[in-house]
Amino acid sequence: MRKIFVLGGDGFCGWPSALHLSNKGFDVTIIDNLSRRNIDNELGVMSLTPIATIQERIKAWEEISGKKIEFYNIDIAKEYTVFLDLILKKTPETIIHFAEQRAAPYSMKSSKHKRYTVDNNLNATNNVLCAIVDSGLDIHLVHLGTMGVYGYGTAGMKIPEGYLEVFMKTEDGKEVSSEILYPVNPGSIYHMTKTQDQLLFLYYNKNDKLKITDLHQGIVWGTHTAETKLDERLINRFDYDGDYGTVLNRFLMQAAIGYPLTVHGTGGQTRAFIHIQDSVKCIELAIKNPPKENEKVKIFNQATETHRVRDLANLISEMTGVEIQNVKNPRNEDAENELRVENKNFLELGLNPITLEKGLLKEVKEVAQKYTHRCNKEMIPCKSLWTSDTKTKVLI
Ligand code: NAD
Repeated sequence: MRKIFVLGGDGFCGWPSALHLSNKGFDVTIIDNLSRRNIDNELGVMSLTPIATIQERIKAWEEISGKKIEFYNIDIAKEYTVFLDLILKKTPETIIHFAEQRAAPYSMKSSKHKRYTVDNNLNATNNVLCAIVDSGLDIHLVHLGTMGVYGYGTAGMKIPEGYLEVFMKTEDGKEVSSEILYPVNPGSIYHMTKTQDQLLFLYYNKNDKLKITDLHQGIVWGTHTAETKLDERLINRFDYDGDYGTVLNRFLMQAAIGYPLTVHGTGGQTRAFIHIQDSVKCIELAIKNPPKENEKVKIFNQATETHRVRDLANLISEMTGVEIQNVKNPRNEDAENELRVENKNFLELGLNPITLEKGLLKEVKEVAQKYTHRCNKEMIPCKSLWTSDTKTKVLI
């Protein structure tokens, strides 16, 4: 059986991916330090859906499927030798790396949160790369990056899958071309760490010939996958709060409880999206199509649609009758932007995407309305502010 490590396998993307891969016959080991559950405690929020403990999740999966998933509580950013020893003991073929602090608003709350996000995300990624080199094993690393590294301003061109060909003139007037990473423009400390991840990959690929696939994912929406639906103990998390709730899931929750859909600024920001079921399929496709020997870092845009935020709000408002409310944008970003994304790599590998238009209402009914009684309305607005008209608080 092909062995896979899922780092961050207790999280929103990691848990359904672990189940999907286990169902497909991979031997899955989850490594997670449960920091995301601790952040819920810190913020005083909880997933809208009643998520079971990781131990209960794994036990339920074994009962239902007869398949075993192992779990290790390891902090990838801090416990290097423990992590390396586990790699040497288990010899995984692939490592999927989801184990980072992933909320832009959380990363902007205070200097404490900025420093935590940088320490955690950069050390986690560097430790994974170092450990693969130290192990001497031929391991394919699949990392979850984000479309957000590009800052969304693309002057009308489609964002390519990672690389851009640039043409320059030498001093003697000869035209030469070169391929570079598509330029980044991070809009938060979280996104900044993801841009740094890209350079770490470029470096370790060049220097140590590591096989790496970096998936530039859009905003993930939805909750269920085929596997998480099988039993309530397998249910995925659904974040709707101002820090971790991504825009679409926040709108779905608001629609379910009749709370106005809060659009930041004019809602003219265009974002890229993907359903969680498609996200797990893309990960499987990436695992099955690793880079060849000496190939550069493979970069895929893991997004299936782009929409303006106000268009999404209008769509949900029309479906549900809930009104829209424009509020001040807490982010430091352009009020309006275009975003076009090249995504032919996954389509060519056979992805058949779930569209927002088809899946949205189902999500409102099956998840958001079902668990309305667990919603704390006070936690919905985003209270993290980007700019220093609010000075960041020094918390030590
Ligand atoms: P999540 O917070 O739900 O899951 C991340 C998991 O990693 C958590 O279970 C957490 O406990 C664990 N973790 C964090 N730091 C760790 C460490 N040092 N050691 C061990 N475990 C650690 O986040 P998610 O939504 O599942 O996102 C996963 C990845 O996908 C992130 O890297 C994120 O940047 C990327 N991504 C997510 C989205 C989205 O919409 N959710 C969009 C684009 C990219």
